[in-house]
Amino acid sequence: MPVGIIYDDIYLNHAEAHSVEVPERLIVAKKYLEEKGVWNSKDFPFIKPRKATLDQVRYVHSDRLITDIRELSEVAAKTNSIRYFDMDTIVSGDSYEASLYSVGGNLTGIDNILEGKIISGFGLVRPPGHHSNSHKCAGFCIFNNIAIAAEYLFREKNIKKVAIYDWDCHHGNGTQDIFYNGSENGELLFISTHQDGRTLYPGSGFVNEIGSGKGAGYIVNMPMAPRSGDYVNQLLFDQVAAPILNEFKPEFILISAGFDTHHTTHLTPGMGTALFWTLQGTANITKNIKTIAEKFCNGRIFITLEGGYRIDEQAQAIYNVLKVLNNETDILTEKEIEPDKLVVEYTQDKLIKQLHKNLAEYWSCF
Ligand SMILES: [Zn+2]
Repeated sequence: MPVGIIYDDIYLNHAEAHSVEVPERLIVAKKYLEEKGVWNSKDFPFIKPRKATLDQVRYVHSDRLITDIRELSEVAAKTNSIRYFDMDTIVSGDSYEASLYSVGGNLTGIDNILEGKIISGFGLVRPPGHHSNSHKCAGFCIFNNIAIAAEYLFREKNIKKVAIYDWDCHHGNGTQDIFYNGSENGELLFISTHQDGRTLYPGSGFVNEIGSGKGAGYIVNMPMAPRSGDYVNQLLFDQVAAPILNEFKPEFILISAGFDTHHTTHLTPGMGTALFWTLQGTANITKNIKTIAEKFCNGRIFITLEGGYRIDEQAQAIYNVLKVLNNETDILTEKEIEPDKLVVEYTQDKLIKQLHKNLAEYWSCF
């Protein structure tokens, strides 16, 4: 069965001045996929998204937030200018509409998977979503696409167990906030790898943030030290994420995919910077998650685009992800980056041990 790519030109109209989260992120990715013969091919059909309804956006967001975005977008349209929520989070005249289609892209992809038209899907969408919580937009994000997608599965598709895997370099704090106490409508597991919040925006996602109430133990944060490369990522997957996912047995897996983990990305100058993943590293983590999806949910995975600011490398990483989803092995590779000995020791001796300790009460695998 093919792998769908969800995209619409409206995503380019969410234009942002002086930002790194720019329309070119999608333009270049699309062009690269076209050059590689992947775009709208037999194996990778192109799917046009529909618009999410306001009721669906309300699954996770307050009316106030939705109104604020609509009104700010209207002002931007009238004045033909960019308006600011905060220093990072900017809207243009079409941002409200583009945001509804960004959410809708996720829902359309999910529909196509559940209807058996595609095995899995990739949402080449903007604006991203994982920093927005129920009442606040942040970090380039407007509506939380992945959180709404999870609630859509619970409320409209009778899916009871959803795992969200967030591998963006930044912690998915908005998604975590929304599901910190769980969901009333199903079982939601949120697993996040990200650069340690002591060294990077948004400064959250520590090992002791494990959820509460119905969500207790269902929030799993793996804050990676700067310079954690593919090796450390694999270590965390094998020793923390995989055992939990195997015990949880998801019925559907959603991925918040950020490509700002690539070693050419320098997010925090002077701090050792970034996670040093390679193109094959991103492919490997996709493969790991796909193996879990095949075991428990017929390979059903929908991936939504979050960050990624090295535009050419992002396009290549997306290509690799798509190839893996389609069971292809001829992926792009680059020179392996030697694991940093101190970072590996820290991960094994401190981080993983602490995670096992914190989560042992909730997961029998630990
Ligand atoms: Zn990011």
